[in-house]
Amino acid sequence: MILDGKHIAQTIRAELREQIASIVSKGLRAPKLAVVIVGHNPASETYVANKIKACAEVGIEAERVALEAEITEEELLAEVERLNRDASVDGFIVQLPLPEHINESAVLSAIDYRKDVDGLTPENVGRTVQGLPSLVSATPRGIRELLARYDIQTEGKHVVVIGRSNIVGKPIAMLLMQRPYLSLPGMSASSLGDATVTICHSKTRDLEAICQTADIIIVAAGVPNLLTANMVREGVVVIDVGINRVEDDSPRGYHLVGDVDFENVAPKASYITPVPGGVGPMTIVSLLQNTLQAYLGN
Ligand code: NAD
Repeated sequence: MILDGKHIAQTIRAELREQIASIVSKGLRAPKLAVVIVGHNPASETYVANKIKACAEVGIEAERVALEAEITEEELLAEVERLNRDASVDGFIVQLPLPEHINESAVLSAIDYRKDVDGLTPENVGRTVQGLPSLVSATPRGIRELLARYDIQTEGKHVVVIGRSNIVGKPIAMLLMQRPYLSLPGMSASSLGDATVTICHSKTRDLEAICQTADIIIVAAGVPNLLTANMVREGVVVIDVGINRVEDDSPRGYHLVGDVDFENVAPKASYITPVPGGVGPMTIVSLLQNTLQAYLGN
């Protein structure tokens, strides 16, 4: 069965639209997200435009804060501080990557964790690890929500995560191994968590044997066809996070594929996400959910 992230994301957007309309109808202001973009990276421009459009669709006010690529780290930190103090801004993100002369980690660490709707500050990551209320980064939050909406239980299951990045691999592993007391407002009730998690990466030996023992495999490596049919057992659940461009003769010059050999793995899987239309749409909707969570202050 296909895990239809596009459809679930639409459903969640409709729910958010209703929730926000009800807030506004009480005479309260709408939630507000600010998006800081530094320089003119075309991919970043597209991502930011999509995020702002998604906000408009659900009634979240969005402000684009565009800064020149030559800005100094101190000037950017001052902008972060301004947004930290601006009471009309509930959450903000600094679109990555930043120009090379700016220390990304210093900038992310300066964001007030209560406004950190990308969930990337050390404070939010630490809170997530300890099972405290936190803003969870968008892709792991989206994966967790997708599993919950399809009522895929994780208790006692063996989950194999391929990839150890700060934005996907590490946090999703942490979320799924937690006891399910970690409450994420707006999340469907489900006993997600309590899984036995194995994290694999580029230095892992015998990935195939490890994957063959998995009930659920989450692939976030950025390597097309990394997960093949011989590596999975019948009935496995496969979440493909990868987004890879493969050049072709189409007018666009490329198409997108994930990290999974979808054609051959899908017949063995009980559930599988497509690329595109799986995890991607869930990531954007998670940012909206995080913004509402920051607005509500929980
Ligand atoms: P990354 O690119 O920072 O790192 C890749 C990880 O994969 C590393 O931890 C590495 O050890 C591991 N890896 C690489 N080759 C491997 C191999 N052959 N075997 C086992 N492990 C291997 O990770 P990222 O930023 O999480 O991105 C991963 C992929 O997910 C990329 O394709 C990215 O575009 C995509 N992504 C998608 C979304 C979404 O919304 N769908 C969000 C974030 C990232």
